[in-house]
Amino acid sequence: MKKILAFLLALSVIFAFAGCGEKQTNSTPSDDTATSDVEFKKPDNYASVVLVTINPEVRLYLDEVGKVLAIEPVNDDAKTITKDLQLEGKEFKNVVKEIVTSANKNGFIKKDAEVNFKVEEAKSDKVNTTELLNTAKQTATDVATELKVEFEIKSEDKTHTHTFSDATCTKAAKCECGEVSGEALGHNYVDGKCSRCKAEDPNVKYTSVKTKSGGWFFMFVANDTLHDARLVLSGSEIYASAGLGDNIKNFDGVMLPEELEDCVKFNGETYRVARGTGPVPLKSVTEDGKKVTATDENGNSLVLTRTGETTLKVTSSPDVFSEYDGKIPVGTVLTFKAD
Ligand SMILES: [Zn+2]
Ligand SMILES: [Zn+2]
Repeated sequence: MKKILAFLLALSVIFAFAGCGEKQTNSTPSDDTATSDVEFKKPDNYASVVLVTINPEVRLYLDEVGKVLAIEPVNDDAKTITKDLQLEGKEFKNVVKEIVTSANKNGFIKKDAEVNFKVEEAKSDKVNTTELLNTAKQTATDVATELKVEFEIKSEDKTHTHTFSDATCTKAAKCECGEVSGEALGHNYVDGKCSRCKAEDPNVKYTSVKTKSGGWFFMFVANDTLHDARLVLSGSEIYASAGLGDNIKNFDGVMLPEELEDCVKFNGETYRVARGTGPVPLKSVTEDGKKVTATDENGNSLVLTRTGETTLKVTSSPDVFSEYDGKIPVGTVLTFKAD
């Protein structure tokens, strides 16, 4: 029994040497790495090439379904981390995992380390390079978490030309592959609002409506009557007024030139404004931050929101307000004009 075992051991040693010898056909005896002088040969039917750079740099040749056909160690560090690994024939994801893990084990992932994935070539339309890189990045992220190490993950696709969207106030220019270029523009606040996206300046301070001398003008149609309206919300006389206009569709006969001068266009319709409510005093105006509440003599309140130094918007409206002939639509914008 002992003899058989010894024989088997001897046999396996011979095979081991034979294995090494095969790999070392072209090498000199002084070489200590078995693969150093074996010239790498690209596999015939690869579909894509991904270069992984940590400091060890490894080129992976993949087939159409993302299986790794061959591994080319580009530098000596790459030989160090791959020499004990069996990677051929494995899924791309698993190969990335083993390479990053081995790089870490061999001390190549130090402080401020970077792991870079670059698709260098894609020979087939079936290769989804974006997906390949996403897989690589996700795998590297998972490995970092698992090993409790930190490194920056970068990717590049040499086979793809980025098409960047325009940057906006809050978003940097972005390609559909996920690559980002530059930074978001940031808001450009003018008079409490962004000149580009109209976002409100959270830090804006408006002058109180009670100290702004002038009127807030707006137009709306209720009961087929145009209201060319004005609110005066400052000073000792606070009031609501409106010129009232009738739709000229309902006008019989020929309009005189002076009657035409009274005509106002609104939302594609023409109204002749020939009567009005006169200034009707309001009971009160209160202001709470951007909220402005105007209350008429009957206790009906019109609630407005300050949207700019010179703009208010109706946020809630009673069925009847002051002497207006109908409800002011929510969303109506009032614009301030100084006296
Ligand atoms: Zn892109
Ligand atoms: Zn903006």
